[in-house]
Amino acid sequence: MTPRPAPPADVDRAAAGRAAIAARRARAAVKQEISSRRRTALDAAQAGWNDPESAEASLRVTELLGSVPSLGPTRTARIMGELEISDKKRVGGLGIRQRSKLRDWLVQRQGAEPSRLVVLAGPTAVGKGTVSAYIRDNYPDVMLSVSATTRKPRPGEVDGVHYYFVSDEEFDRKIAARELLEWAVVHNSYRYGTPRPPIDAALAAGRRVMLEIDLQGARQVREVMPEALLVFLLPPSWEELVRRLIGRGTEQPEEQQRRLDSAKVELAAQDEFDAKVVNREVGQAAREVVELMDAPAGAHTSR
Ligand code: 5GP
Repeated sequence: MTPRPAPPADVDRAAAGRAAIAARRARAAVKQEISSRRRTALDAAQAGWNDPESAEASLRVTELLGSVPSLGPTRTARIMGELEISDKKRVGGLGIRQRSKLRDWLVQRQGAEPSRLVVLAGPTAVGKGTVSAYIRDNYPDVMLSVSATTRKPRPGEVDGVHYYFVSDEEFDRKIAARELLEWAVVHNSYRYGTPRPPIDAALAAGRRVMLEIDLQGARQVREVMPEALLVFLLPPSWEELVRRLIGRGTEQPEEQQRRLDSAKVELAAQDEFDAKVVNREVGQAAREVVELMDAPAGAHTSR
């Protein structure tokens, strides 16, 4: 049976219904962008104030704040109270005074966003490699940067997974082409550096990124990316560090001595770091490092 044409009033109602569904979807997309960190709540609010017809403008302020990662309903309600904005208010419907209060709050909060770039450093043989391998295997959403190095692969190391093993000429080329975020000669022997393009891409996509590098590299990252969180991995004790270094048995005695000398210098730098994690047990240390990535800036207490 062919349906009869609907009277005009129903047509209007159907069109309005479709428009409402489209608007709801557009608002859901904005919330999704904010909750997945592809976009800040401040950016969305600004878009709403610039265009009163936009999805952002029709978003309730509670929904906008509720989409911010780590702001649950209780905190959202408290903040709404502090800002004196009623539950029903939409972003586009805020008066000038409320807009400026909300903007100030979002700007201030943005400064307290968790740092998505974490640098893990620490003395040689403390277990940085083991902790980062654990993070690679158990926290796949964290991107681990793969460094370039001029040293030769050890047994079991895979090019492109553990390092990019490159020649001196290739390393020179990377420096000249400004492809490295930082680089250093480590243990007075080989050069190691962090390729920059994959990091920029991952951060732009809202991913959390971790670098496992030496102290000189960590200091360089602090200069070029001050928002990075520097984490220092500590051994439970100096004796344990020596035991781990000798126990690994991969280096000649002179090399071991050279690494112990570096370790002493590196341990002395621990107070330059934003946070310290003691590597007693790899799973626990890895968890602490990942948790630091989610903590708001300024909330990192040294342990
Ligand atoms: P290994 O040769 O044992 O793999 O690493 C030696 C040292 O080089 C470690 O302390 C490690 O953190 C450091 N390292 C690895 N990749 C980089 C890098 O890209 N930049 C810097 N500065 N150090 C790195």
